[in-house]
Amino acid sequence: MLTLDQVKSKSSGWLGGLHPVVLAAAGALIQRSYARGVPIMITQGLRTIAEQNALYAQGRTKKGPIVTNARGGESYHNYGLAIDFALLLPDGTNLSWDTSRDGDRDKTADWQEVAYEAKQLGFEWGGDWTSFKDYSHLENNFGLSINQLKSGKLPTVQQVKDALARINGTPSDSEGGTKLLITLNGQKIADGYLEDGTAYAPVRAVAEALGAKVTYDAATKTVKLVTD
Ligand SMILES: [Zn+2]
Repeated sequence: MLTLDQVKSKSSGWLGGLHPVVLAAAGALIQRSYARGVPIMITQGLRTIAEQNALYAQGRTKKGPIVTNARGGESYHNYGLAIDFALLLPDGTNLSWDTSRDGDRDKTADWQEVAYEAKQLGFEWGGDWTSFKDYSHLENNFGLSINQLKSGKLPTVQQVKDALARINGTPSDSEGGTKLLITLNGQKIADGYLEDGTAYAPVRAVAEALGAKVTYDAATKTVKLVTD
């Protein structure tokens, strides 16, 4: 039985240069997968543009199967926002890319267990992609396109805080969002808050200010607004 430290040490060479959120998520993924009986190794992290170009050439101008559709600068690996993983076999050395392997015999493929934990940690899994499936690949792109990254755009401080809170399982200090003042014809009617681009407001205060009657049906969990 491999210890967690043994498992962790296998990946340490691939964690340099990762975005702090991806680094934290990678560490948590190794730990959570291990706790489920699935040791993994991070097999790729930050990739330089030259390394990416060499990989793109494979299967095109160089021998081997095609493994990526991304040229240098076009992969989230090039910005420290992606990692690849494989299953670490009980000998602590060899790796497996067998997505149906069930090493811990819990009748769930180990690969699926890792993908599940990864998504809990905020990663997007390449196995969910429709056009080009990349079962080893996990990324957190913060909603930024490659072009935005190329032009130097970075995740916001709030995005980073929220992502770290999710990974650490602690409430983010964005809890409750940004406070909003809600007015009707210049008069304050309620306090609200803004979160993820949506403005939240107490429905009764707003609806009654607009002349509607508000009732709540607990059985169907329905808020009913009636205007005459
Ligand atoms: Zn990848």
